[in-house]
Amino acid sequence: MSISQLARTISESATLKLNQTAALLRDRGEPVIHLGGGEPKSKTPMDALVSCIAVLNSGDVKYTPADGIPALKKAIIRYTEEHYKKLAGPENVIVSCGAKQAIMVLLHSILDPKDEVIFPAPYWVSYPEMVKLAGGVPVVVRPEDGSFHPKIHEIADAIGQYTKAIIINTPNNPSGVMYSKDFIAQVVELCEKRSLYLIMDDTYNRLVFDGRSPVNCYEFAREDLERSKLVVINCISKMYAMTGFRIGWAIGSRELIQTMATIQSQETSNPATPSQWAAVGALNGVQTSIESLRLTLENNRNIMVDRLQAFPGVKVTKPNGTFYCFPDFSAYYKDSQKLSELLLEKVRVVAVPGKEFGMEGHLRLSFCGAIKEIMDGIERIRWALDPTAPNELFLGDRKLVRDWL
Ligand code: PMP
Repeated sequence: MSISQLARTISESATLKLNQTAALLRDRGEPVIHLGGGEPKSKTPMDALVSCIAVLNSGDVKYTPADGIPALKKAIIRYTEEHYKKLAGPENVIVSCGAKQAIMVLLHSILDPKDEVIFPAPYWVSYPEMVKLAGGVPVVVRPEDGSFHPKIHEIADAIGQYTKAIIINTPNNPSGVMYSKDFIAQVVELCEKRSLYLIMDDTYNRLVFDGRSPVNCYEFAREDLERSKLVVINCISKMYAMTGFRIGWAIGSRELIQTMATIQSQETSNPATPSQWAAVGALNGVQTSIESLRLTLENNRNIMVDRLQAFPGVKVTKPNGTFYCFPDFSAYYKDSQKLSELLLEKVRVVAVPGKEFGMEGHLRLSFCGAIKEIMDGIERIRWALDPTAPNELFLGDRKLVRDWL
């Protein structure tokens, strides 16, 4: 079969693949613990359901404008005003099928062949592949000090004549680290000075812990929205636990948003109409679910970090937000792919290899699941790796024998 050169360079999403493997094993009755997931367990907020069901009941489910229904744009404008203190108009907003499509149409709108896009490691698995799909070249900045927080000079040093954009995701998937306010201020200034697009992926920015507040990049922007190359990406996926609805959005200059809308209109037309109405319900409805999710995640984070800190040889950086932790297991295994395979095969724990996020020796462990799963999952990992851990482990009623250490 003949497939394109481009397609041959694109890897499958490691996280989605692991989800499938976990689902298959569960179907076979295997006692899988999924610490690889990327979605909160909580249910869709009632206001979102009511709004979605109303449009379904009407039976009038039709195409909408490609860039989103006016009611949703209005809700997003209000959200932006409340949380970013930024005034935007409907022409500054595009609604897409998840934050993922918003980023993808953005990259299609700004990249010429071989243009470079810079982002720090560890990074969300999809950035390199998305940049390549849009014909660009991903440029990864690895913090020299081995931390998860880049320095501004490291980003600046990566800028070359082909650099078109910088992507910043804070708090960060997979490390959970929130970049400092100073750093965000410096990146905004750097991009304005060098006339680069700055893509702020704020997917997790409401899910932050220990009394922190989300960092608002607009605070540091000097340029007016219409002249600015700053684009802010958001979605309902994580903060409202509405991953399956597939609604995200971008805020940017009119010219850019119009270009994105044209591309989106040819690629997919509008995001699904019932999902858009669900998003209207979520954004305009009672907001308590975000805080209760945030509190649950903070508690889960504490439990996961406590367990990992008690794990000999494992280095853990406490996440400031998201629902991911990115511990360093290199004292046990340098090859994170092999480690992930071993854990799935021997103790039925799903963990995503750090390699997929640009950092070997790490695993991404999610704490968006149940507390018991977090505790049992880490106990199983420890049993699989640490020779000083107790000799016996039960998976359901199956007694395991550790014969690989
Ligand atoms: N950005 C980041 C950093 C993410 O982790 C994700 C989802 N895992 C997305 C964007 C995409 O979000 P959505 O599901 O809304 O497409």
